[in-house]
Amino acid sequence: MRAAQVVAYGKPLEIREVPVPEPHGEEVLVRIGGAGLCHSDLHLMHGEIPLLPSLPFTLGHENAGWVEEMGENVQGFSKGDAVAVYGGWSEKPDRFAWAGQEQLTDIRKWVGIGFPGGYAEYLLVPSYRYLLPLGDLSPIEAAPLTDAALTPYRAVKKLLPSLYPGSTVVIIGVGGLGQFGVQFARVLTPSCQVIAIDVDSKKLEIARELGADHVIHGREEDPVAKVKSLTGGEGAQGVVDFVGSSATMTQAWNMAGRQAKVVIVGLAGGKLEFTTKVLNEAELTTSVWGSQVELSEVLELARRGVIRPRIRRVRFEEINEAFEDLAHGRIEGRAVLVPHDTLENAATGPTQ
Ligand code: NAD
Ligand code: ZN
Repeated sequence: MRAAQVVAYGKPLEIREVPVPEPHGEEVLVRIGGAGLCHSDLHLMHGEIPLLPSLPFTLGHENAGWVEEMGENVQGFSKGDAVAVYGGWSEKPDRFAWAGQEQLTDIRKWVGIGFPGGYAEYLLVPSYRYLLPLGDLSPIEAAPLTDAALTPYRAVKKLLPSLYPGSTVVIIGVGGLGQFGVQFARVLTPSCQVIAIDVDSKKLEIARELGADHVIHGREEDPVAKVKSLTGGEGAQGVVDFVGSSATMTQAWNMAGRQAKVVIVGLAGGKLEFTTKVLNEAELTTSVWGSQVELSEVLELARRGVIRPRIRRVRFEEINEAFEDLAHGRIEGRAVLVPHDTLENAATGPTQ
């Protein structure tokens, strides 16, 4: 089968022929319908997050498709079932896995980071327990839900205890993840004002379409001053930073109001100078992917049409160009690798 692999750090992916894995026991072979291109893959391809076990390596941690073949101990699935793949795999469950927080057990075991991922025609999933039935959802549209939507879902939910009617939620960076962040803020906090910040006008236009009350261009205005003025001087009660650079983390922290919550999701490697001069009881935390239960909730919201992915379909031959576009902010929503020529590939849906 074909797989897009990292062969050297900082180099384009290579499309190589690799063996189709054979499932045994609880394992399932999934025919990839869609595999989302995440900005984290750019960090991994450039060696900025040094986690890959060895090269060549197949990336791809946002996967959905159809059950192709099953090991002898698989239960509850049949060939052809449409499934989303939960990617926070763990070889050795611990107390966090027992509590349903498997994504916190060991990032080096995740799909597309520790085990070969979905930039391939087929994906070997270690257990049927990591599969969620899609029902009517298309695997191409479902792929980004497993990370680009799941991660902001968890992050925005973390804000809820700090919010009150009329308070303000700020989403910094409205790319693949942030666009879902705006949608979740709109859905989960309907009585709050939602502000989106980006450095790209097109992304801000999309954020408005998705329900942001105000948008701020981070290079044309001072985001902290603008958020303060839009909140009567109080600041925001909830901020999620989907960039994670020193600049955005500092902005996020400085725009936080009293007892606000600031959640850092982006992995741009930023640093934040934390000083005690801010005596406002604001809290700072991070957020990592999401649990399998949270993924089931995200799929339900998509099934009900409450959240909508914005997708650019990409073929194998186009994957490096798509990553170039992602690096330069030219992907409007999420690029999704569609490795097979399926009927769905030509199907309708929200496309870029
Ligand atoms: P993306 O490239 O699709 O979106 C990033 C957005 O941030 C773009 O719209 C860009 O214009 C905007 N941006 C860049 N600099 C900015 C600035 N200074 N101020 C405001 N906006 C700015 O990326 P993505 O796939 O959405 O991923 C976002 C980040 O989240 C990446 O760092 C990725 O590695 C990380 N991530 C983290 C987790 C997690 O579990 N914590 C999961 C997935 C992705
Ligand atoms: Zn990701």
